[in-house]
Amino acid sequence: MWQKIKSVFILPYPESERDQVETLLARRVYWNRQLLYFGVAFMQLSLLITFALRPGGLFLHARRTGYVCLYFILLVCSLSASILLARLKDHSPRSQELLQNIYAALVCLWSCGIAVLDRMGGGGITVFCYMMPALAALCVLKWNAALIIMGGSWLLLNTVLLIMPGGFDELFNNAMNSMCAVTLSVLIANQLYRAYSHALYQTLLVQRLAITDHLTGLYNRRYLDERIPEILDRPDGQGKMAVALMMDIDHFKDFNDRYGHRAGDECLKTLAEALLEVGGSREIHAVRYGGEELFMLWLDSDPSKAAQTAETLRNSIAHRQILHEGRPLSPVTVSIGLTIEPLETNLSIDSLIQHADAALYQAKTEGRNRVVLYCKSA
Ligand code: GH3
Ligand code: MG
Ligand code: MG
Repeated sequence: MWQKIKSVFILPYPESERDQVETLLARRVYWNRQLLYFGVAFMQLSLLITFALRPGGLFLHARRTGYVCLYFILLVCSLSASILLARLKDHSPRSQELLQNIYAALVCLWSCGIAVLDRMGGGGITVFCYMMPALAALCVLKWNAALIIMGGSWLLLNTVLLIMPGGFDELFNNAMNSMCAVTLSVLIANQLYRAYSHALYQTLLVQRLAITDHLTGLYNRRYLDERIPEILDRPDGQGKMAVALMMDIDHFKDFNDRYGHRAGDECLKTLAEALLEVGGSREIHAVRYGGEELFMLWLDSDPSKAAQTAETLRNSIAHRQILHEGRPLSPVTVSIGLTIEPLETNLSIDSLIQHADAALYQAKTEGRNRVVLYCKSA
């Protein structure tokens, strides 16, 4: 029972995915937040205009001046929050979340202030009670932030109301009403935050699955066809060289015939690991191109070590132990075709593949287990 209740408050995505989900969330709720700031600013402006048009104007007596000050402060804070959010748009989602929490705390303080002024005029704490769920619904807060911000406001409001003249008589009523509003608001905040982040996490998984090869964990052909052309077009790539490598397992049919297809699958997985390892800290794009053909691309301002990298890869595979059901299989060798080309405006993925393929074909015909660098006459 306790575990079930606890699970409702646990984030619906693994901790390792937190940055990605929060980045998506910040993008998803950017306009919700901007609309909230504008909506609240509009509300304050309308209230100020209404007061200005009433007999006696804005500063008729101390209480009205109090309202006017609160409306004006929230108007300025909402517009400032909107400008700040626009500036933080491309920054970390944490800073946007911090801004949202500070803004929510300000609105809570505003609600407390209005409730106190209303009580001074003989009214109730209605504004506080409707602002809490509205905040929870519009701010997209995490439940713990909502609990601290709204729970803190609840404490502050009821303390101030208690020390006001006649505060003790209404203590129970006010405390209970505002507590119900805060409790429901924290639940609303939790439910909404979970719904948003769960949906975004699912989208993230689907997007990732759509570009991933299930067996090797490398990217798949969809990634190669749809994303790599964008990478070749990236402005930060100008002046760099594109290094493309096509690798094919030697005599893989024989390997499958000898050990079976499941062992062949293990072999493919091991080779995918080798490909990723040799990439090191570089930003590499490793793709399962066909059945047992693996493709790798990276952009480099100094490609002089590219051939050496390909050679290291070939060598590491030849000396790698492949295990299947606990028993070692005989090592495999690979042939690699390599091409290094300037990242000019019309360099296409098709020509990179064609050239790497031509070099691979040459490596096969020259006897396999080797690296061949493409040159135009090849
Ligand atoms: P070569 O040295 O000329 O490359 O000889 P090869 O036998 O490796 O010939 P080829 O590259 O044409 O072999 C492709 C083989 O790869 C055919 C198929 O049995 C095997 N293969 C392709 N995809 C998979 C897979 O996902 N799992 C397994 N186990 N084998 C695969
Ligand atoms: Mg092949
Ligand atoms: Mg082969």
